[in-house]
Amino acid sequence: MRYHFVVALPKKINNFVAYKFDAIMSEEKKSLNFIEQIIEDDLANGLTKDKLRFRFPPEPNGYLHIGHAASICLNFGLGLRYNAPVNLRFDDTNPAKEEQEYVDSIKYDVQWLGFKWDKELYSSDYFQQLYDWAVQMIKDNKAYVDNQSSEQMALQKGTPTEPGTDSPNRNSTVEENLALFAKMKNCELEEGSHVLRAKIDMKHVNMHMRDPIMYRILKRHHHRTGNDWCIYPMYDWTHGESDYLEQISHSICTLEFKSHRDLYDWYVDQVYDFSKLRPKQREFARRNLSYTVMSKRKLLQLVEEKIVSGWDDPRMPTISGLRRRGYTPESIRTFSETAGISKRDNVTDVALLEYCIKDDLNKTAPRVMAVLNPIKLVITNYPEDKEEWLTAENNQEDESAGSRKVPFSREIYIEKEDFKEEANKKFFRLSIGKEVRLKNAYIIKGESVVKDENGEITEIHCTYDTDSLSGSGTEASQRKVKGTLHWVSIKHAVKAEVRLYDRLFTEEAPDSQKDKDFKDFLNPDSLKIIAAFVEPSLKEANILDRFQFQRLGYFCVDKDTTKTHLVFNRTVPLRDSWTKMSG
Ligand code: ATP
Ligand code: MG
Repeated sequence: MRYHFVVALPKKINNFVAYKFDAIMSEEKKSLNFIEQIIEDDLANGLTKDKLRFRFPPEPNGYLHIGHAASICLNFGLGLRYNAPVNLRFDDTNPAKEEQEYVDSIKYDVQWLGFKWDKELYSSDYFQQLYDWAVQMIKDNKAYVDNQSSEQMALQKGTPTEPGTDSPNRNSTVEENLALFAKMKNCELEEGSHVLRAKIDMKHVNMHMRDPIMYRILKRHHHRTGNDWCIYPMYDWTHGESDYLEQISHSICTLEFKSHRDLYDWYVDQVYDFSKLRPKQREFARRNLSYTVMSKRKLLQLVEEKIVSGWDDPRMPTISGLRRRGYTPESIRTFSETAGISKRDNVTDVALLEYCIKDDLNKTAPRVMAVLNPIKLVITNYPEDKEEWLTAENNQEDESAGSRKVPFSREIYIEKEDFKEEANKKFFRLSIGKEVRLKNAYIIKGESVVKDENGEITEIHCTYDTDSLSGSGTEASQRKVKGTLHWVSIKHAVKAEVRLYDRLFTEEAPDSQKDKDFKDFLNPDSLKIIAAFVEPSLKEANILDRFQFQRLGYFCVDKDTTKTHLVFNRTVPLRDSWTKMSG
């Protein structure tokens, strides 16, 4: 790890400022990623540190996902490393797809991840400036209005191996172009009828340089500029100029924009003033994650077609989905840092993400007992009217987590899987004639079973060793038995709905299968809902609280929880869930 967050994030997300960036220079040098190397080279070549400035530029057309987290952690990580400002810039140039709801969710998610932006900015803040520059380009004979259909323009574009051909409108006069562009702006022309194009070179080896479109007519209400504009600037025209206006030193984007870099530079050249900093676009590979899809368009499809319950469905790879699932900001940052950045496309194994959350929750999540697949167990030598409140540690990994009381009584639930009438030597759980320890409680011995008319076991009868209470210091309490089981007292148990999640897709790369739609690979068993019993302390739990259900996995309280109905999401199972646990 090249840096770490010295102070853990406080629980309240609005209070996230307090962490430090701590790096050891000598180690740092060895492990620079290639973007940091580019920055170091620029610094060595005369760029001063105070000129460093970064941005994260989401389009508010959907919720952020774990891929965006890579870009967020990269850009804000650079900000922390170099003590440089990072802007949050909404790339809001397509009113057809953008909404305030998305803006709000993006701000929330970036903050929740633990980052603080310098300025909140919008590409739409620059619409007037961009327009003025476009007019100047027309006057300089570097842009023209084209009224051809998009099909005609596509035909003239050529191919990577054949040059394109000039539009018949390419040589219109400056006056004609200014007049038409004014009409475009004043909403006097139909959507799709005219575009403004940069006049570059229809024979350029880079197809993006063959007179790209700068503006199109869109008679849409914009979430910020309302109906002020009915022409909207294209991504390439907007992005470089916005970087230039904000004096971003390094504009980091994903690989698919590599071939746009010539155009980025050309556009900046049109407005560049030598006294200013010239932004530089550099690219890294998108984060792909196995067993999911990561494009907002596809995620939106899952939402709109109600395949999932919403953007924050716990099966979604969105930040809001992962949050609801129980992921912590720390785990997502660690994942982004560990997976690193690459120059080539690749797929990151979802197991790494799961590892990161398990590792984090192992240190921080209070332990509780819950039984997901209950069977009744009666301790026949335990008095009927007796109950005890036993001491249970909240987290063996963290002494400061303290302890709580759990009620014990004659009738308890254990997991069905934890009992076999007859078992071989390798079965370390309960069977007839064998002993196990009940976590935080006593050693019990299997005596007999009660069965229904179908031969199904309905009750297990046991006896307990009265001197064996955990932590009581008696000789019997130190006695080693092979297995330890979790349990809940039936009289005190609280019923809870538990949602067990599996991967949303059955295929590692669902959206790159030939001739198949990504939805062909939906996992029909990605959600299983069960009724479980949990210990009574969980009645006090709040939405998003995270726990380890001992021997089962990590779970968090879902927002569907009400005063009378507890709902848990399984964040991730403990892989070795059935291994022996210390008494
Ligand atoms: P999508 O295909 O999901 O719609 P996008 O690139 O259109 O993604 P933007 O909102 O434009 O989404 O992305 C904001 C920033 O996040 C951009 O700099 C983009 O390059 C980066 N980004 C988006 N997806 C990923 C990803 N999977 N991995 C890394 N960075 C990403
Ligand atoms: Mg984009």
